[in-house]
Amino acid sequence: MKRVYLDHNATTPIHPEVKAAMIAAMEVFGNASSHHAFGREAHELIENARKTVADALGAKPDEIIFTSCGSESNNLVIKGVTCGNSICKIGCEKNEVIISAIEHPSVLNTAKCLQGEGKTVHLCPVDENGIIRLDILESLISHKTALVSIMYANNETGAIQPIKEISELLAGKGIIFHTDAVQAFGKIPINVKELNLDFLSLSGHKIYGPKGVGVLYKKKTRKVCPLIHGGHHEFNLRAGTENTVHIAGLGKAVELSIADMDGEWQRLGKLRDWFESEVLRRIPESYVNGGKVERTAHTSNISFRFIEGESILYDLDFDGIAVSTGSACSSGSLEPSHVLLAMGMDHGRAHSSIRFSLGRSTTKEDLAYTVDALERSVTRLRNMSPLWKGRKK
Ligand code: PLP
Repeated sequence: MKRVYLDHNATTPIHPEVKAAMIAAMEVFGNASSHHAFGREAHELIENARKTVADALGAKPDEIIFTSCGSESNNLVIKGVTCGNSICKIGCEKNEVIISAIEHPSVLNTAKCLQGEGKTVHLCPVDENGIIRLDILESLISHKTALVSIMYANNETGAIQPIKEISELLAGKGIIFHTDAVQAFGKIPINVKELNLDFLSLSGHKIYGPKGVGVLYKKKTRKVCPLIHGGHHEFNLRAGTENTVHIAGLGKAVELSIADMDGEWQRLGKLRDWFESEVLRRIPESYVNGGKVERTAHTSNISFRFIEGESILYDLDFDGIAVSTGSACSSGSLEPSHVLLAMGMDHGRAHSSIRFSLGRSTTKEDLAYTVDALERSVTRLRNMSPLWKGRKK
């Protein structure tokens, strides 16, 4: 059976060159902290990867902290800069944090955890296209604001947030600015200095690298309390012997994603636009969610009114096509996507949504096959749906 993978926002396959780099790194078994030749070899692999990531972001190598994933990077910054513990010397006295309503659960739930410590977390709303309301963000800022954390590109709709404008809004106010760039890095050119960012998170497995490795960029002058205490690894900010193999893989993945970023953006944008126009032309009552604003070129979120997205997902899976409803992390939950709800969508439309995320291997033929399968599925499901039959025309 033909297999089509359209779930690249959930994860990406490992690029063959990344795999080769990881296999080579497996031969390097030394502990990067050891002072002998075996240790130096591992240290060199890690430092090469650190330099590659730093160059890709316009940062300095000593501003790059390797973590175990994007979620850990988000936890590290959110918990770490708001830490009031007297021993760790962060001494955060401000007790308010602002995040957007459409953040990934690794930001949303970490912020909720701060609420348990008596801190106030403001959720900044987004408009109907999933773009943060800058006017409301401005009104939420006060002398109590310690941190603003706004994602760069949304994982469900691809909506790209006005990061430069937010940075300008915060400039000179003594507020720390973090962006979760897990879905943006490798797709959009990002320069942390030009954007004046304090912290940025990224993850290996969204850019054809391995799962279980991430990065937190930390501006040199900023402080963060570690989540994992122990040895001196990662500038004393993330203890634990470094995962040499995964870090080497991440370095290669970063190099490759930067090299063909523009070409892939153009190619996937054209494919995505063609796909959406075919879906809208052939399937009535289908709507692109957040399609009117700048999005990552490979992301398409479409609602098919009067049916459950889950049912479509299973039909497509039967045809060998992999898609997702909402974010992969929340599939399995019957709650509609918090992102689509935050955009003001009713539960019915949010429930009927499917996320298609294209990637390196996606071809027009894959998408034509998907449109055919979608049309069959939606027609079949609607024929069984009392909601569809009873709808107002
Ligand atoms: N942030 C965003 C926007 C994501 O899409 C994801 C993963 O889906 C994460 C953070 C978490 O990354 P990781 O899976 O590496 O923990």
